[in-house]
Amino acid sequence: MIKVGVNGYGTIGKRVADAVRAQPDMKLVGVAKTRPNYEAEAAVRKGYPLYAAIPEKSDAFRNAGIDLAGEIDDLVMQSDVVVDCTPSGIGEQNRELYRRYDTRALFQGGESADAVDASFNARANYDVARDDDVQFVRVVSCNTTGLSRLMAPLDEAFGVEKARITLIRRGGDPADASRGPINDILPDPVTVPSHHGPDVNTIFPDLNIDTVGVKVPATLMHLHSVNVTLSETPTVDEVRDLLHEEPRLFLVPDIAGIGGTGQLKEFAMDTGRPRGDLWENCIWDESLSVEDNDLYLFQSIHQESDVIPENVDAIRAIMDAADQQESMEKTDENLGVGLESVFGGVRKRITPRNADD
Ligand code: NAD
Repeated sequence: MIKVGVNGYGTIGKRVADAVRAQPDMKLVGVAKTRPNYEAEAAVRKGYPLYAAIPEKSDAFRNAGIDLAGEIDDLVMQSDVVVDCTPSGIGEQNRELYRRYDTRALFQGGESADAVDASFNARANYDVARDDDVQFVRVVSCNTTGLSRLMAPLDEAFGVEKARITLIRRGGDPADASRGPINDILPDPVTVPSHHGPDVNTIFPDLNIDTVGVKVPATLMHLHSVNVTLSETPTVDEVRDLLHEEPRLFLVPDIAGIGGTGQLKEFAMDTGRPRGDLWENCIWDESLSVEDNDLYLFQSIHQESDVIPENVDAIRAIMDAADQQESMEKTDENLGVGLESVFGGVRKRITPRNADD
């Protein structure tokens, strides 16, 4: 059993904790929180041992009637791996804490690539985290994860000469009351190219990719308008067959009648996905087009959840506990990743297993 601690229990942290709990080869040691808010209460109700992320604030938990299992040092000491899900920039400051106990740590996409030994995407470069010398790994951002999952098979099968992506980005997560824009459309960043392309290059150093970003008043998902110039000229059916083979890519079929991110999220909620999460890239099948050797498509990325299977795989990779295929299959099976199956005739479970079963 791999002992896993989660430091930072917000949007990403609470999902990572649930995903770890669904893996029979992992044990969730506990989660660390800064304050006894509603998320702390929810963690307690789920039976997750709670640790004070800031020891000086331990009393606030006691005053709120919440029992603590310990403080952050106790959690780090007991864990084989800590998944750091703190806000951007805090993870980097926590490296000293993890070094003190010689504990491996995973960081999220908000941290700088320079703060870690390796940047990780399960489909594209799983083995980079398996090296004995690697202590700190960054699971790349939601957008970079979505792009890496798509670029890996395209590059392997047809060769990518140049990728050009427009990222239409959600303004904030549904719980982020302070984010915007509320009624505007912002070039963001206004400079071209955006930072997303260089971030994809932390996974594929040689990929020729340019990205531009726009921010819109939405909270549900991002939308990528993708144009990839390929070295070959496949038919649309050949591209479709290739993408169809990838469990973490969901080709949204015409018959589903899903016209946008709102209906995608509705579908996820209707099918019982926890928090309405969509761990898969959602690629509109009808958008697949090939003009000469240019491929075009639209894909939506659920920013709150597509990195969750990747974090689970990164735990196994950094512990060298499984190879790429074994880990990805286990993760997908235990979480229920693979919406393709819903429309493919064989209706598999698409929600997490109960690890206690
Ligand atoms: P969040 O604000 O929802 O959650 C962060 C949590 O960490 C909060 O509960 C906060 O109280 C807590 N925290 C703050 N300081 C802390 C400390 N010193 N120690 C422990 N906990 C602390 O943030 P998030 O959206 O979950 O983002 C976390 C990381 O994941 C960031 O690097 C972000 O860039 C990345 N990420 C976010 C998304 C997304 O869409 N939300 C997607 C992919 C990656």
